[in-house]
Amino acid sequence: MTLDQLPPLRESLEQHGLLAKKAFGQHFLLDLNITRKIARLAGPLEGRTVIEVGPGPGGLTRALLEAGARVVAVEKDPRFVPLLEELAEASGGALTIVQADALKVDEAQLAGGDGLVVANLPYNVGTPLLIKWLTGPWRPTSMSLMFQKEVADRIAAPVGADAYGRLGVISQAICRCRVVMDLPAKAFTPPPKVASAVVRLDPLETPPSAEVITALEKVTAAAFGQRRKMLRSSLKQLGGAALCETAAIDPDARAETIDVAGFLRLAEAL
Ligand code: SAM
Repeated sequence: MTLDQLPPLRESLEQHGLLAKKAFGQHFLLDLNITRKIARLAGPLEGRTVIEVGPGPGGLTRALLEAGARVVAVEKDPRFVPLLEELAEASGGALTIVQADALKVDEAQLAGGDGLVVANLPYNVGTPLLIKWLTGPWRPTSMSLMFQKEVADRIAAPVGADAYGRLGVISQAICRCRVVMDLPAKAFTPPPKVASAVVRLDPLETPPSAEVITALEKVTAAAFGQRRKMLRSSLKQLGGAALCETAAIDPDARAETIDVAGFLRLAEAL
């Protein structure tokens, strides 16, 4: 069987007697037009190695394979392995299935140096996975990730926006972040309670050093942990007004008014 001879996704699920489990954050995309659009938004994939977290029934996996990618699909739920093995066979060796918790895998070993990530992430582990890829030893060349809309908005929020906070500052200090696609809850089976969106993250040419990122994590945790307070008070443990002055930041300002460059100066000063 080849990729284009595979049965529709709904049929594959039925054949294998698979129903979504809440504990695994399973909300499936069964419309290949949507998964193909996500694959297109991830850029040219011919010959590239893609890590996909949570392939589930494999709708996005099929689209990535059709686009010519080599896919390493990391799925925690063992029930999906037999279905995914059929897809691997149809892919003629382009798909590798890894049954594991994506939080624990070593992506460098799975994908080598220049892999990218494309995934419809399980909601419960989406943010920890993003932080792992932003700050960990393995850095993807780009990420196209489906999150709850509210999380997607936080990642891409500009300074001053309601959604602006720690996740946005850390993400934008390392990557260019854009919401590239919105999807209503009804696009998923079963539908979740909230809408979703795909964020595309492309690493900046000169990202901050690991040391500065560690300092940035500390500064943003303190500043946004008490976001209504002035920085001289919320950053007291880290140097307060003196730290702000070294970074050319007004100590009477509040976290939500400091842009990413300002937070990077605070991290460097620390
Ligand atoms: N990609 C599929 C789609 O778009 O139809 C499924 C997406 S569903 C939102 C999330 C998938 O992630 C599920 O298949 C779930 O079993 C899997 N998953 C949940 N937690 C995981 C983890 N820690 N590591 C790897 N996969 C996980």
